[in-house]
Amino acid sequence: MVRFTVLASGSKGNCTVITGGKTRILVDAGLSCRELFRRMRLADEEPATLDAIIITHEHSDHVAGVAVTARKLGIPVYFTEPTHRAWVRWLTPRRQMTYAQWIEQCRKQAAARMAEADAAMVEDCDPEEAEVTEAEGVETLSNRPSQSETSESAEGAATKPEKDPTWLPKIEYFSAGNTFQIGDISVSPFTIPHDAADPVGFVFQAEGIRLAVATDLGYIPPNVKAQLKGVDLLLLESNHDLEMLRDGPYPWSVKQRVLSRVGHLSNEAAATYLETEYDGQATYVILGHLSESNNLPELARIGAERALNGRASLLANHLLLAGQHEPLAPILF
Ligand SMILES: [Zn+2]
Ligand SMILES: [Zn+2]
Repeated sequence: MVRFTVLASGSKGNCTVITGGKTRILVDAGLSCRELFRRMRLADEEPATLDAIIITHEHSDHVAGVAVTARKLGIPVYFTEPTHRAWVRWLTPRRQMTYAQWIEQCRKQAAARMAEADAAMVEDCDPEEAEVTEAEGVETLSNRPSQSETSESAEGAATKPEKDPTWLPKIEYFSAGNTFQIGDISVSPFTIPHDAADPVGFVFQAEGIRLAVATDLGYIPPNVKAQLKGVDLLLLESNHDLEMLRDGPYPWSVKQRVLSRVGHLSNEAAATYLETEYDGQATYVILGHLSESNNLPELARIGAERALNGRASLLANHLLLAGQHEPLAPILF
């Protein structure tokens, strides 16, 4: 069975669960662990069955809960190396240590603690864990998680990773353009234009079903269009309405950033893609990462519907909207 469950989508947190065969992957962990587990259960997904977390990029709406969640579940986190490095820089005060020295220290610590990490699967998250509190619509590296979010306190002193907020049970690196396997799911990461260290989108494949995740991109370059061909499900960014953004509350500098070639995809750009270049193969098109300040779900939906309805052959596409505050019903293949 292949299943795709969006737990949250937007600038206050992004998380999706992908199931293929016996494997379950969490794509991004932009909610607190506690909220993430709550939403998984709401959507009939069991947190303890997750096999891995994979990260698109280091903005806080994609990584805010990654360390706590990975530790709770004792599962590996997949990053590109530059994304991991950026995440570490974000969480670690400046140290007199090279990256190579740091990663070596990290590996030693990880090896020393693997035994304890394996010992107990903690059922639930720390109730004191903080919620994500990010300024809506503005993803910046200055939005550090609070101390309680990054500290591990439920497993007792013996297994504490000595207050190292970057400690993870296991780190795996991948690189854009190189397909790899996590259990029963094949993962094809591709580069997207966005203002992060090494941002990627993904095409996941299992049991012959192809699922694409393409959010946080300033525009859709040819390499992304090529990746999105022949997918059965497409989660596509439809971040803002151009007029609402222009007339909206953001400072000019932030508006410029969102609108730039490494910002976010507008309703208009998403609709243009769907109308002119999208191949119409997907059974489900899900619009995601909608801004709460500069968009309205109806505007995003109308633009995309018009684009799809303009093409008679595409009427079979189901159009859905992923929300910020509650999970979307699981999509089954
Ligand atoms: Zn984002
Ligand atoms: Zn981002």
